[in-house]
Amino acid sequence: MSSPKADRESEPTLLSVQGDDEPEPALLHRSLASRPHNVESASGSYLTLSSGRQKLDACGGAAVAIIGHGNTEVTEAAVAQMLKVSYVHTMQYGTDSSLELSNCILAPHPSSPNFDHGLVKAYFAGSGSEVNDAALKLEKQYFFEKGEPQRKVYVSRQQAYHGGTIGAISISGMPARKVPYDGIMMPHVEFVGAADAFHRKGKAETEGEFVERLVKEIEELFERAGPKNIISFIGETVSGAALGCMSAPKGYWPAVRELCNKHGILLHLDEVMCGMGRTGTYFAFEQEGIKPDIVTIGKGLGGGYAPIAGMLINDKIIDVIRKGTSVFNHGHTFQAHPVSCAIALNVQGIVKRDKLVERCAKKGEKLRQLLEAAFAGAEYVADIRGGGLFQTVEFMQDPYTKKPFPKHVGFGAKVQLTTFDLGVAVYPGAGTVDGEEGDHVLIAPPYTISDEELQIAVVTLKKAYDKTVSGLF
Ligand code: PLP
Repeated sequence: MSSPKADRESEPTLLSVQGDDEPEPALLHRSLASRPHNVESASGSYLTLSSGRQKLDACGGAAVAIIGHGNTEVTEAAVAQMLKVSYVHTMQYGTDSSLELSNCILAPHPSSPNFDHGLVKAYFAGSGSEVNDAALKLEKQYFFEKGEPQRKVYVSRQQAYHGGTIGAISISGMPARKVPYDGIMMPHVEFVGAADAFHRKGKAETEGEFVERLVKEIEELFERAGPKNIISFIGETVSGAALGCMSAPKGYWPAVRELCNKHGILLHLDEVMCGMGRTGTYFAFEQEGIKPDIVTIGKGLGGGYAPIAGMLINDKIIDVIRKGTSVFNHGHTFQAHPVSCAIALNVQGIVKRDKLVERCAKKGEKLRQLLEAAFAGAEYVADIRGGGLFQTVEFMQDPYTKKPFPKHVGFGAKVQLTTFDLGVAVYPGAGTVDGEEGDHVLIAPPYTISDEELQIAVVTLKKAYDKTVSGLF
């Protein structure tokens, strides 16, 4: 990869370009008021815009491009699969690529060969939202077939994001994303507080006391709803965009697992963003010492080469369905799509062969060093957190009292947009996207990123921060 073209000149300062002088495109983009930069090509860690400018993709899109862009091994695997079997309806047929992909994902991963996750079946669909919806249905069907049809409550957490379909947004705890849809959210979804030690308010408490308080809140909710009415507890193992690479405090997940076990409630971990090696282990829950009942994965599964996500299920659930109807009462036209599966299989094969999970863990340490050095003493940097290549820098007006910037300042958004302007894409945090609270950016580059590219990303982010600060006064 040649070095990036300097990207300092007359670039619009906004990520989205106003297209006043051009006709509005027929494509419905997120925004009707502006249009995004067009990406003409992508290779390695870089995107090339139609303007010819290059951007270092330090967030892999949305933490997706784990092996970088333009990998010809993957494109060859895609073509080979298209020539073999491009499509069959996988509710009626099997294909080698889907069978091999499930084996590949469920087999012990070479990055942690002794880790026993207890998951025995995989289901694939097109997006994280779809597999989270599929999981909600499978969880309900499990209890229906088990003779507990009264269970109908899902417990999720504030500030969670699980996707955009009605099921997935209903279990998400981001109120701003639900505003126009008030009244049509799924019923029977209850929320508890986020496992967010950093932003907690009120009296000082130790990490252990905080965990106790969170668990007590869950227990009280279980009691109020009636533990025999609850289907599952759903959470991102490491919270993604909304909270910014936020790990739960130590002991939280084992305590939640125990509580779920006590009442026969299923534990559904959403690793759509934090899974597939992103935090330095293949599954983020490997670091928590627990075994979930259902795990959803996405983003890095196909590395962006195909729209593919997955639901992984343990034998407790499968046994009940097997002894019952033997049919998962759900399906999609494009589930386990043969080409998507072949692509994901190839991407995951590269991850194994090139030891990219291990590399992600190592590069994560490097990224942390660079961030800490660049932002040492920075007045408005409140926190640098995360693990592997999944890290966040959070900004506050007063980091000592944890006073955020007033919303109208849009500090995080300004940092993100200025970073882009200077040639590096970082991922916008919640405050930047949907009017939710918080000012942070995420750095989630391909696992193949070089040290030099990491350095460019961090130096550029710091420059953008400095520019944003000087613009404040
Ligand atoms: N779950 C998590 C944790 C996510 O971060 C996302 C997307 O950002 C989703 C689910 C939804 O995935 P998708 O956008 O592929 O539907």
